[in-house]
Amino acid sequence: MIPALMPLHVRPDLVFERGEGCYLFDTDGNRYLDFICGIGVTGLGHCHPHLVAVLTEQAGKVWHNSNLFRIADQERLAERLVAATFADTAFFFNSGSEAIECSIKVVRKHHDTVGNPERYRIITFAGAFHGRTMAAISAGRQAKHTDGFEPLLDGFDRVPFGDLEAVRAAIGSETAGIMVEPVQGEGGIFPADDAFLSGLRQIADEHGLLLVFDEVQCGMGRTGKLLAHEWSGVEPDIAAIAKALGGGFPVGACLAKETPASAMTVGSHGTTFGGNPLAMAVANAVLDVFLTDGFFAHVCEMAELFRERLESFVAGNLSLFESVRGKGLMLGLKCCDDGANTDLMVALRERGLLAGPAGDNVLRFLPPLIIEPAQIDEALDILETTCTEFRG
Ligand SMILES: *Cc1c(COP(=O)(O)O)cnc(C)c1O
Repeated sequence: MIPALMPLHVRPDLVFERGEGCYLFDTDGNRYLDFICGIGVTGLGHCHPHLVAVLTEQAGKVWHNSNLFRIADQERLAERLVAATFADTAFFFNSGSEAIECSIKVVRKHHDTVGNPERYRIITFAGAFHGRTMAAISAGRQAKHTDGFEPLLDGFDRVPFGDLEAVRAAIGSETAGIMVEPVQGEGGIFPADDAFLSGLRQIADEHGLLLVFDEVQCGMGRTGKLLAHEWSGVEPDIAAIAKALGGGFPVGACLAKETPASAMTVGSHGTTFGGNPLAMAVANAVLDVFLTDGFFAHVCEMAELFRERLESFVAGNLSLFESVRGKGLMLGLKCCDDGANTDLMVALRERGLLAGPAGDNVLRFLPPLIIEPAQIDEALDILETTCTEFRG
């Protein structure tokens, strides 16, 4: 008999009752060092006092009134994101997939508005992950996400990640845009190099295409800058953000330059829940912390330390790991044996360290951005003991 909860995930028999900073506590009182953060969401850790204060204050005021009315915190968050990023405008949703959906719609609507309605196709990349809506799985086109859901949405052409020549070859008279993760997450923690991103910008400009960055996972501080593409100096026309934007409260956003966003007019798109007062209060609170002097410097410092420690750990465990890869505090260990990433994830969890799997046999770490050297030491200690036992 099917369980009451639709069985879409394999989960350990473990329920977390409480979180505090970098740690989670299960119902038996066991403590876990959370280096996956609900897949890069709780960037400020658990129960950050400023987020708790803002959320509970807002909870006593107003929760929801829909986009039929002005929402002061929504306007404020949009202004702050515009001031802090490449974007001229922003619109809010409840998830990353919805932010991607809007990004795709902006690409199509822009070309329709400027008199190229035949242009609707978007070039995407092998290993990409853009979410689980029909448009998002059509864009990512990973068999494990699309099997049984065909026909997919038409309009996506996939080429190898990092291959500018393949991008050029895929462009036709119907091509409208290019969509890429500056650091591929689910696909296996592959950072795009700066030359690839600037090559994409150049190709997009030559052919009148829109460049969309999916920063749902790598954005919002994860790499040590507010948005990951800032490292490259390359600006997109559109970007989707979500995961860490709400620190655990579901919220996503589509950010865009005036062109193409000006194609989106009253009635073009909408959402009931997106940008509601609770989500907006919390996302503003997240930004309060992110925009504090020294916050990103701390992320970069911790990232450098964690990476160094992982590099030397891998060097001492070459029978288990091939390499460290990633950017900032979005790091992966490429495992040697097939499936070792999930086996290790389970073994680490049993010893109190939460990590996640990623594609390409990678063990993924997305630690809280507020970690200190003590947490890095603790994680490495658990890695060491686990791997010693693992090697047998
Ligand atoms: C998680 C993720 C999404 C989808 O976000 P949801 O909130 O799960 O819909 C899209 N793109 C990337 C890069 C992601 O990591």
